[in-house]
Amino acid sequence: MRTDLKKIAVIGGGPMGLAVAYELTLNGFQPILFEADDRLGGMAACFDFEGLQIERYYHFHCLSDYAFFDLLDEIGIQNELNWKQTKMGFYYNGRLYKWGSLSSVIQFSRVPWISRVRYLFHAARCLTIQNWLHLDKITATKWLKEWLGEKGYQVLWEKLFAYKFYHFSDQISAAWIWSRIRRLGKSRRYLKESLGFLQNGSQQLINEMGNVITSGGGEIKLSTPILGIKPNEESGGILKTERGDESFDLVISTIPLPLVGNIFRASNIDDSIVAIYENLNSVACACVVLKTRCQITENFWTNINDSRFAIPGVIEMSNLRELSSHICYIPFYMPGDHPDYQRPNQSFISDAWDCIKALNPNLNDKDLISAHCSRYRYAQPVCGINFKDKLPPINPFNGVFTLDTTAYYPEDRGISESIGFGRNLVRQILNS
Ligand SMILES: Cc1cc2nc3c(=O)[nH]c(=O)nc-3n(C[C@H](O)[C@H](O)[C@H](O)COP(=O)(O)OP(=O)(O)OC[C@H]3O[C@@H](n4cnc5c(N)ncnc54)[C@H](O)[C@@H]3O)c2cc1C
Repeated sequence: MRTDLKKIAVIGGGPMGLAVAYELTLNGFQPILFEADDRLGGMAACFDFEGLQIERYYHFHCLSDYAFFDLLDEIGIQNELNWKQTKMGFYYNGRLYKWGSLSSVIQFSRVPWISRVRYLFHAARCLTIQNWLHLDKITATKWLKEWLGEKGYQVLWEKLFAYKFYHFSDQISAAWIWSRIRRLGKSRRYLKESLGFLQNGSQQLINEMGNVITSGGGEIKLSTPILGIKPNEESGGILKTERGDESFDLVISTIPLPLVGNIFRASNIDDSIVAIYENLNSVACACVVLKTRCQITENFWTNINDSRFAIPGVIEMSNLRELSSHICYIPFYMPGDHPDYQRPNQSFISDAWDCIKALNPNLNDKDLISAHCSRYRYAQPVCGINFKDKLPPINPFNGVFTLDTTAYYPEDRGISESIGFGRNLVRQILNS
């Protein structure tokens, strides 16, 4: 065990930063965690939606989220985890279809029968692929078109990519989409989709991790963005905040890597290193949450392919987790520099509500109780081809580590993955 690490800083209080600080605490250290936001949780943070504590962005868990299960067990809240058989839908050009089950795919007559059959074979194939390195070298578009044909891709995938990645759509690596399909494909019991949720949402887990850290003597500094990192000659670095500079023997940053690029640039770090961070792209998300008088559909997740709406899907949270109201999320993804990201919240809410009324024409304006829109600039990394080789080193300077959700590529960003990766890294550092 390392005895040379007297002062340790963790940057970022999302699931990964919390897990890093939690693991350090379990090993007898007293880290200081710096979080820019006024609350912990990062993308999994919650807000008060008129008396309902709920995540800013929808979250569900899969049967393969082992690092998440381990942490729940350790903290003693494993009984808070529940599972539900969920339904999926597909809204295509003005009509809502059933989706996700064998029979619904076979019956979906909007694509040729051969595409439907190949869709199912492709889903099954995703479960058996072990070595994904070849998929890192081809685009998801090419891979999916090869499997589904032009028409199959156009109907089933094109809009989902277009409304998540915009001009990056044709650059996404096949490895990334493979890992997403596989994660959901594995979350089935007797072929039926089974998704998990915490009874009280992510807030409880976030609070519990925070409590372990502070009761072990660590410190959590909210509303304290790190503005600069100057690596020390020997190990660690000097962190700059609005309150001044502080030196640490070990710095573990878990904030989005493009932000690390900005911070490194502000700290006069070598251009060649800064460029690796700055060249990474990430799309933003403006996520609308609606509280409605009644259920919209029976689905938890409905894919949308309809030229009237720039929306890849609608997530009806109250069809997964029992809530006191009917709650659905409508995400609008786009590049952070896209002019639409400047649209006011009300404009996203209005588009979201139009989409919901199209999904369920029985609804009228009186059925909308309240609405909220949250934004996250670095909501989804753009994992292009050969992405593995484009990532910066996790340990660019002695005693300075920089990781974010791309560290576990090709896995998509996820709470369990962030927790697992963060904790493993700490174990490796402490045993080195
Ligand atoms: C719309 C949406 C839906 C999602 N759905 C799911 C889901 O269903 N299931 C699932 O498992 N995951 C889901 N995720 C992903 C999940 O939320 C993330 O994988 C997870 O929160 C990542 O945690 P993290 O700590 O790695 O990063 P983040 O959550 O990004 O945390 C980074 C933290 O760093 C802070 N920070 C930034 N800059 C600074 C600075 N200069 N100084 C200090 N702090 C700083 C940020 O404020 C933030 O708190 C979803 C995400 C989104 C956006």
